[in-house]
Amino acid sequence: MKLTRRNVLLGSGGLLLAGAGAITIPMALRPGSLQASKSRARPVSGQGTPPAEADVVIIGAGIMGVSTALFLAEKGLSVVVCEKGQVAAEQSSRAYGQVTNFGLPQEVVELGQQSKMLWQGMNARIGQDTSYRAYGRVQAFKEDSEIEEARAWLAKAEAVAPVQAPIRARFVEGAELEQLLPGAQSEWKAGYYQDDDGGMEPAFAAPAVAEGAMARGVTIVTECAVRGFETEGGAVSHVITEKGGVRTKALVVAGGSWSRLFLGNADINFPVLPVYLSQQRIAGVEGPPAVGAAGRVVWRKEVDGSYSNGPRFMTAPILRDSFSLLFDFLPVLPEMLSGDTPLDMTLGSDLPRSFGIERSWKLDQQTPFERARIVAPTHNDGTLDASFGWLKDEFPAFKEGRVIERWGGMVDVAKDEIPVISPVPSTQGLFVMGGFTFGLTQGLGAGELMADLVAGDVPKINAKNFELARITAG
Ligand SMILES: Cc1cc2nc3c(=O)[nH]c(=O)nc-3n(C[C@H](O)[C@H](O)[C@H](O)COP(=O)(O)OP(=O)(O)OC[C@H]3O[C@@H](n4cnc5c(N)ncnc54)[C@H](O)[C@@H]3O)c2cc1C
Repeated sequence: MKLTRRNVLLGSGGLLLAGAGAITIPMALRPGSLQASKSRARPVSGQGTPPAEADVVIIGAGIMGVSTALFLAEKGLSVVVCEKGQVAAEQSSRAYGQVTNFGLPQEVVELGQQSKMLWQGMNARIGQDTSYRAYGRVQAFKEDSEIEEARAWLAKAEAVAPVQAPIRARFVEGAELEQLLPGAQSEWKAGYYQDDDGGMEPAFAAPAVAEGAMARGVTIVTECAVRGFETEGGAVSHVITEKGGVRTKALVVAGGSWSRLFLGNADINFPVLPVYLSQQRIAGVEGPPAVGAAGRVVWRKEVDGSYSNGPRFMTAPILRDSFSLLFDFLPVLPEMLSGDTPLDMTLGSDLPRSFGIERSWKLDQQTPFERARIVAPTHNDGTLDASFGWLKDEFPAFKEGRVIERWGGMVDVAKDEIPVISPVPSTQGLFVMGGFTFGLTQGLGAGELMADLVAGDVPKINAKNFELARITAG
């Protein structure tokens, strides 16, 4: 998935555009609304209740929460992860599982490269298979302008990649490109090929890291929503969960799409907006390349031989937060309106629902988190059918394929498309990580960085790029 600024801002842009009656009705008909869902992740058995005390409490057992826990445990700290639903049940098991940084903002390249290096060593580190494989990835182009843009991106990325994890990429064409895209029908002019890119199985990766963390003494408590936290002298002192309180001096909020709501109850602004995506799995296909991106689709071969596929197409739901954050996102609206990616906004049932969700609660009350153990947006069959059609046209082997699964997923994005991995300046001991669009790729690098920040150690990568203040100031 590659986000452009235009996609990211659809939620707030939609607010402006919603005024135009001609497009309001089609928007209302578009699919994409949040529903209770089931986990796609391999089950991990957590514990029933949290301990009374821990050095660090982490909200969320997605890839961010469990990798932070692992690195903190390796520093000798006692860690408890509280998860309202199940391990990796929301974003972290719903990806299509490509491992790549290609085309992302330059500020994210160092994090992604560092993270890939950590994935490379993780099987040996935790003694089990995370499913990560660096088998190379090709992104194909037809237009000279796209190739030039990719060359410019690579030149900058090579300069900012960490010395210990350099980018190993090159441009391929002719026979080599044909070999990388066996059976392709289009005249692809060139491909960007990075051989340290690859894939992982979203259903297995975060659960494996979670078990690695547990083997180091981390407690993971599932079905345990965190309601809030208490402070003493401006510093975190207790974390309050639905199953009791935990005395602690550090709280890491890694709640995925819920972190804005959680922090809002403590009057802390975390300006991110959700974007919905759709994915599918296609079985019965032999021959097409294992991983790639071209035109409007991306694909990856899963361990069972099926192909995971997603259209490069996103839906920005118009929500209450689209209004609250309009002025945060306004400065980049012109870029959004001039892009060439299909504009897909939905003005559906999630808008009234978003006005119905409590924004503030007392810590002895049930919270929205307990009422939504696992949620995901419905998938968009129109874009998935179109994507499957494109695959059949490009790789005729897909004509033999059949769709065996479809699902939706949601990511949370900041206005500059750069994640936040940061202390919260107003409250000592409070940290937040979120706004990831390629969070599986970046998950281990982000966890390592967050663990360094919490422990007060020198970070291995430039932490400044991910500070919360950059999107809350002004
Ligand atoms: C369809 C789709 C395709 C994607 N494709 C890719 C890809 O190919 N490559 C890639 O690198 N990335 C991809 N991503 C992005 C990646 O999946 C995410 O960036 C990453 O999983 C985010 O992890 P997380 O831990 O921040 O969030 P999550 O996995 O959502 O974890 C947050 C957890 O916090 C819990 N939680 C929230 N609030 C509370 C609370 N108050 N108390 C207790 N628990 C709470 C939630 O239940 C949830 O389990 C994709 C994402 C989607 C949706």
